[in-house]
Amino acid sequence: MSEVRRGDKYCACCSVCGTLLQKSAITDTEIRCGKCNNDLVVLIENGVVTVFESHRDNAVAREKFKKRSISYGKRIPVQVEKEEVEETI
Ligand SMILES: [Zn+2]
Repeated sequence: MSEVRRGDKYCACCSVCGTLLQKSAITDTEIRCGKCNNDLVVLIENGVVTVFESHRDNAVAREKFKKRSISYGKRIPVQVEKEEVEETI
């Protein structure tokens, strides 16, 4: 028998428009928002609800990921240098 009581459910809302998608105690599912029609992934486990847009692997998604990764990579050394400067003051 599950440790989660019937009433212990969590609300998963669309990360794009905020519409309630489902209530569940645990899930790992793909769902289309009925309001904005975006494809979403809903994960609920150990009381943590995660909802994000489901992007299939394609050239556009890969290019966006590449640009985002480069952007993050450029910022990390700057932040490290700032922290080192602050520590020496
Ligand atoms: Zn939506």
